[in-house]
Amino acid sequence: MSEGAIGIIVLCVTAIVVSLIVHTFIRRIMLATVVSATIATILFQVLAYLHAGYLDPFFLIAVVVGWCWDCLIAFVIGIPFWLVRKPRSRGHCRRCGYDLTGNVFGVCPECGTPI
Ligand SMILES: [Zn+2]
Repeated sequence: MSEGAIGIIVLCVTAIVVSLIVHTFIRRIMLATVVSATIATILFQVLAYLHAGYLDPFFLIAVVVGWCWDCLIAFVIGIPFWLVRKPRSRGHCRRCGYDLTGNVFGVCPECGTPI
């Protein structure tokens, strides 16, 4: 496998791992995306520097392109986090979203979650 292909794989893996960690702790998707991309970009550049032993002459271009790519990955990974955390409307079960209008039992009939 070529050096470039390994670099792209390392870039993607770094972005995915950092995104998963950051989205776990930061609930706002856009903030988490930017923070993830920034951390992943710095981490990748440090790894590339340690691997090559010198700073790439196109270092700044690599940072900008890498950051945009990391943002895309971080955003895509953030979507399932966002969907799970999206506040449901009032009158619906907070676990499964079942409509609880008129419910007098105190538990969701769909999933059994106490209201
Ligand atoms: Zn429910």
